[in-house]
Amino acid sequence: MTTATPPRPVLTHTLGFPRMGAARELKFALERHWRGEIDAAALQAVGAELRTRHWQAQRDAGLGLVTVGDFAYYDHMANHIQLLGCEPARFGFAPGASELACYFALARGTTGHDPLVCGAGCAHGHAASQGHAALEMTKWFDTNYHYLVPELHADTQFHLGSERLFDEVREAQALGHAVKAQLVGPLTFLWLAKDKGDAGDAPFDRLALLERLLPVYAQILARLKDLGVQWVQIDEPILGLELPAAWSQAFEPAYWQLGKAGPQVLLATYFSPLQDNLRLACQLPVAGLHVDAVRAPEELTGVADWLPGYKVLSVGIVDGRNVWRCDPDAALALLAPIAAKHPGPLWLAPSCSLLHVPQSLAGEDRLDDELRSWLAFAEEKLDELALLAALLDGSAQQHEPRLAAARAAVASRRASARVHRADVARRLAEAPAGADQRRAPFAARQLVQRTRLALPLLPTTTIGSFPQTAQIRAARAAHRRGELPTPEYEAQMRAEIEDVVRRQEALGLDVLVHGEAERSDMVEYFGEQLAGFAFTANGWVQSYGSRCVKPPILYGDVARDAPMTVAWTQYAQSLTDRPMKGMLTGPVTILQWSFVRDDQPRSRTCEQIAWAIRDEVVDLEKAGIAIVQIDEPAIREGLPLRRAQWQQYLDWATRAFRIAASGVGNGTQIHTHMCYSEFGDILPAIAALDADVITIETSRSHMELLADFGRFRYPNEIGPGVYDIHSPRVPGTQEMLALLRKAVAVVPVQHLWVNPDCGLKTRAWPETEAALRAMVRAAAQLRAEL
Ligand code: GLN
Ligand code: ZN
Repeated sequence: MTTATPPRPVLTHTLGFPRMGAARELKFALERHWRGEIDAAALQAVGAELRTRHWQAQRDAGLGLVTVGDFAYYDHMANHIQLLGCEPARFGFAPGASELACYFALARGTTGHDPLVCGAGCAHGHAASQGHAALEMTKWFDTNYHYLVPELHADTQFHLGSERLFDEVREAQALGHAVKAQLVGPLTFLWLAKDKGDAGDAPFDRLALLERLLPVYAQILARLKDLGVQWVQIDEPILGLELPAAWSQAFEPAYWQLGKAGPQVLLATYFSPLQDNLRLACQLPVAGLHVDAVRAPEELTGVADWLPGYKVLSVGIVDGRNVWRCDPDAALALLAPIAAKHPGPLWLAPSCSLLHVPQSLAGEDRLDDELRSWLAFAEEKLDELALLAALLDGSAQQHEPRLAAARAAVASRRASARVHRADVARRLAEAPAGADQRRAPFAARQLVQRTRLALPLLPTTTIGSFPQTAQIRAARAAHRRGELPTPEYEAQMRAEIEDVVRRQEALGLDVLVHGEAERSDMVEYFGEQLAGFAFTANGWVQSYGSRCVKPPILYGDVARDAPMTVAWTQYAQSLTDRPMKGMLTGPVTILQWSFVRDDQPRSRTCEQIAWAIRDEVVDLEKAGIAIVQIDEPAIREGLPLRRAQWQQYLDWATRAFRIAASGVGNGTQIHTHMCYSEFGDILPAIAALDADVITIETSRSHMELLADFGRFRYPNEIGPGVYDIHSPRVPGTQEMLALLRKAVAVVPVQHLWVNPDCGLKTRAWPETEAALRAMVRAAAQLRAEL
């Protein structure tokens, strides 16, 4: 034993568990329900079965409490919108409407009058074909999980609007479990909501709604107490943010009110250090506090100092955001002094809900034994908690084999030659000082590129992908399964490339792309060809609703041992005299959309990816490709939760992009693309990328966001998206022309490109060709006017 701490009892629990099921049962049931193939009762039976299984998994792992209330048919914030009775009036739900049907209406919108949900208040009336737009979706803190944004306005009223939580509590109790109910806290709920006053209303302060909201929370807590629930976990992750004073001051009175109402409250914080909210969090009038010791290990001592001795201290010790096996000795070194210091009850948990990791390693036989031994998904993390608890409570002897296995796995990962490559380390260490700088400044490059490319004013292009037809997807899948031999597969992909090249020429586009038919996913495609990445068979994580993603696992030093896209791009270029744009995914996006190693800083991993991408850019240049696009749609979402850390992140993220982009000569034009346009406060960083051309989303905001670029005097060239590819609607030439005229008013015309706002892979050919034809015409018309 490595600790001198006297043994003490430790309770284990989890802040939440994945909902989808190990075989994504919920996803498939939801989609069948939405297609009308199974009714609500059948879907609810699947939900109940999954809850039963997931509670049992928690019990089997020896957790002291099972968590109830974390399950959702779509999203936990949507659950709360119904629980708190604040569905937006615009949906006009009928008083007796089906709760589940209304829930899916909030989540997915409706396309017309729906007798299951619409009431007398329904704005569109019985005959109208217009439906209701879904609630907006946005990312849950710095995760890739999207929640539905509550819409509130000055006179939103709350009431206890759903029995679902209480039903699930009874369900768990009937199965004999000791229950901890879980809620999103009132302040976090309001913080994440959106002010939706009517146009013309004075903006209102969401915090003003707290007074009206608290009695409903009190009522919920009282109901839980009546059910015999001993503990309620109330999540207030906004305590990890820089809060306005009025918000942080609202916590204490709010929790005075709630602390009296029901079961004992465990206040849960996660994702971010508490910093100036640490004392506040420790001293709130609740029975316990959960802190994230993975994101903020340095705060544990301070928490133990400030937390009153009688309170529960729940330490989030197992990483709920990543897939690596926990190092028991490192965890114990962190826990032992805290265990000695804090006299009150000690609980252990994952750092946050396990919603953000895949469910189980069982069945991951695509991974070799060594790599597999380094990993822990949700179920394995529950076992890790049991092991750590045993190390603290003196029952470790029973777990000796598991402890030995964990230690062996950690040691093998630390020393493995698969993780550490001398050539990669050397390359980073020996990088010359100017490696992240283009040879000449933009203005000089622009002149060289103009001569070389000889493009017209307002050049037209697309973002990279063209429609991924059923035929393309079938070919890729068959090749993957080994049913379509490589020569036939490649011949089919070449035929696809030829087809998109001919179509682009016929449309009259100026800069062409090869269409990305060979890629199913913009990160996976590169991860599969780079050293240092592994892929799971079933490592799915919920992104939103029934949508799941399977992030690659970046376990080792990254290197590009062979070209990845050169042959396809070169082939595409051979078919046409017009410039063919090479298409790559950037280092920040590859980092952001993977599970990355935790044994070195993210910045270093990102730099390794950057050098690998740089090799590809250089090889594309050597192959005669004059334009290369490096997509970075994830730069903005990588921003840390605390603003104080933004600059440091932006410094290494933009440097990584520049490393990727700066291996080429002045005549090679580097593009980048981002699927959003809220650049406001990060425009200096976007300019610091020094891409020759950036294409962005602006069509949905009618170019208004482009004004930021104008005011900032963004120095390089810009392609503001002139139409929204997320809709099958074909915009007219006049509509795009109007947008382009707005763009010309804020950006010098010599710097403007004309393109859609994102890739076209989700569209069908007829609307794609119609829209691009109109776009090319709009560009031609504006050229003629100038
Ligand atoms: N080049 C990619 C495409 O066209 C870009 C995708 C994205 O921006 N998310 O599909
Ligand atoms: Zn995009």
